[in-house]
Amino acid sequence: MAMHDPVTAALTQVHARLASQRDGKLADYITQLALADAGTFGLALVSMEGHQYRAGRAQSPFTVQSVSKPFVYALVLAELGLEEVTRWVDAEPSGEAFNAISLEPGTGRPANAMINAGAIACTALIPGPTGARRFDRILGILSRFAGRNLDVDESVYASESASGDRNRALACLMSSTGSLPGDPSGAVDTYFRQCAVRVTAVDLAVMVATLANGGTNPVTGSAVVPEPVAVQVLAVMASCGMYDASGKWLLRVGLPAKSGVAGGLIAASPARFGVAAFSPPLDPAGTPVRGAAAMRELSERFGLHLMHNPARGAPTFSLSGGQDERVTLVAAQGAIDFTAAERLLYALSPLALKTGGGVVLDLADVMSVDARATEMVRAALTGLGAQGRPVAVVGRLGSAAAGTGPGRRSFTSGQEAVACCAEVGRP
Ligand code: GLN
Repeated sequence: MAMHDPVTAALTQVHARLASQRDGKLADYITQLALADAGTFGLALVSMEGHQYRAGRAQSPFTVQSVSKPFVYALVLAELGLEEVTRWVDAEPSGEAFNAISLEPGTGRPANAMINAGAIACTALIPGPTGARRFDRILGILSRFAGRNLDVDESVYASESASGDRNRALACLMSSTGSLPGDPSGAVDTYFRQCAVRVTAVDLAVMVATLANGGTNPVTGSAVVPEPVAVQVLAVMASCGMYDASGKWLLRVGLPAKSGVAGGLIAASPARFGVAAFSPPLDPAGTPVRGAAAMRELSERFGLHLMHNPARGAPTFSLSGGQDERVTLVAAQGAIDFTAAERLLYALSPLALKTGGGVVLDLADVMSVDARATEMVRAALTGLGAQGRPVAVVGRLGSAAAGTGPGRRSFTSGQEAVACCAEVGRP
């Protein structure tokens, strides 16, 4: 995008303001990560139409680390379903660090899929005859989320493998209580490779935009995971994605997010966009300092907090019935979901309908009517028909949603529908 577009301008401003920040420390328990350039900083944002915006070093490669966890969780949810996965990995915030032994007393079940214990269990749950085949599936799904073929940084993999005893201990502990399927050392090895997959901020933005877009990659158009899986993953990111800082993050930033120790950070604004940052220095909770500050600024600036007026869209309907008392006309536009249907149908409720006579529901400019709204429209029209009112629906989509019923007719033009209802309603 050109520099003068408002989104690039906002990213560039936020980037410029935070670039001189010097807080945070590089992760050094994986020796290769301690070699990173602490000054590298990139931001990327991808919309639901696949529009890409970036600022700074958005194309610099780094290892995905824990930012892989939501996507591998998505893979096992898509393969095994929420019930089966939850038998192995719970979905409660642990209130502890990413590498804590947050296992349920008695069963050894990890608290959630965003901490290491839960992520290792997810990796172990991937169906496949060998570790290599399971890893191929991981690389395959991460690549589909990113919309390009990703690869592994072998030196980071070897480095984590050389110093990964804590994760090995976690896996052995789970295995000893029966809460990890298969061979624990194989599971940890696959998990280390998964953490060493190389990405850029732009890749991560496309990946998280895919979750925000209901599981369909907005750039490639490919359906990577089913919509309910994307919703489940975003829910666990919202409650557990930032480890023991998850509550404060939800309060202040208000977006499902996930951090990684190499400096990657993603956040999703559902149905709006995915945003990613890369900056290696971390705070004590393992959160990239510049990335977190950038997300917080963007969320405030664009009013993205999840709890901030989520459903206040453009007006979806208009009402007229003045000129001809015999007919009330309600017209709607856009996408009709539960909220839009409630607003639309309230105008047709006995409370709001002042006059007797016919009702025209003009849905000619409607883009879509979802399943819940369809049910609501049908029930409302059935109720009006039962009162003996002539009812007409305008538009192809609207007529399909309204279905058929006593006294109900379909038209392609609003004028025709009003004329017909007025005629039928004449005493
Ligand atoms: N590979 C890292 C580990 O297991 C990932 C941790 C993280 O990114 N928070 O320690």
